[in-house]
Amino acid sequence: MPRVLICDPISEAAILMLKGAGFDVDFVRSPPPEILKDIVRKYDAIIVRSATKVTKEVIDAAENLKVIARAGAGLDNIDVDYATNKGIKVISSPEALSIAVAELTIGLMICLMRRVCEACRLLKEGKWAKHRFLGDELYGKVLGIIGLGRIGSEVAKRAKVLGMEVLGYRRTRLKEVAKKLGVIPANSLHSLLERSDVITIHVPLTRETRHMISDQEFEMMKSGVYLINTSRGAVIDGRALLKALEKGIVKGVALDVHEHEPPVEDWEWELIRHPRVLPTPHIGSMTKEAQRKAGVIIAEKLVKMLK
Ligand code: NAP
Repeated sequence: MPRVLICDPISEAAILMLKGAGFDVDFVRSPPPEILKDIVRKYDAIIVRSATKVTKEVIDAAENLKVIARAGAGLDNIDVDYATNKGIKVISSPEALSIAVAELTIGLMICLMRRVCEACRLLKEGKWAKHRFLGDELYGKVLGIIGLGRIGSEVAKRAKVLGMEVLGYRRTRLKEVAKKLGVIPANSLHSLLERSDVITIHVPLTRETRHMISDQEFEMMKSGVYLINTSRGAVIDGRALLKALEKGIVKGVALDVHEHEPPVEDWEWELIRHPRVLPTPHIGSMTKEAQRKAGVIIAEKLVKMLK
């Protein structure tokens, strides 16, 4: 009977699925690597979210390990290359989170363009400042989506319903995906930057995408553009963003993700506290539905693999 160690909380439905498949399931909450390496030995699979670190030492100690399963997206806490070289499969369930992140993206876009958070804060302070809040409508604006993948596509569908003209960019299969979604393919990042009134980013963080939006890219944007980032903080060069806000190139920016989480550098806090920045603490996938789905999908994949 395969033995599975769950290291971070996952949904009850997922646990029932694993037990129903006849697996022997244990739960130890977020053990640090020095503890995990002592207990991991006998397990065939471990399930983690973001809290548990699966280091080289943990992998070396895991004599029977066949699968490391991440419920959700982002494998930063797992030494994927080391595991893969040792023949251990690393799986995840990013597809569970797309709707939650897409909905937050649209929500942030509306809050940003209507300055909802600022209006709310002032009213709670007892200030009725209605005339300060002349916002912008989404309807009729050009939305540029950088990274037309799972989340980008869900954002595109919702933005079209809101009457936005949607441009999408990705490196491969652009025409095919754009046609399926009924959006306009932007043949280059530059053409998307030049044409968009609102830009939203949905690429993974890779060597290629780190600081893909920096000084040069800000200079290409329309003056007064709105920007939303729910992908990874380091995709945008934060210091360049501060300059673009000061120059008025960027009218407002919503950031769910940050270069360090929680932020550590002075410039990161300067950005977060900037009056035209709407920051959230990486809550894109934090819905009950997405978290439940992330567990259930990973359990389904694990049952299939270990059987
Ligand atoms: P996905 O389905 O893999 O989509 C990523 C898209 O980015 C693909 O269309 C890919 O197409 C494109 N891309 C990759 N590198 C690119 C580049 N250099 N230039 C232009 N396009 C590029 O991923 P997803 O599920 O939509 O997730 C996107 C990202 O959202 C994740 O990687 C993660 O960082 C973030 N995320 C955030 C949260 C949150 O809580 N805020 C939650 C989940 C995910 P090509 O490869 O063809 O270019």
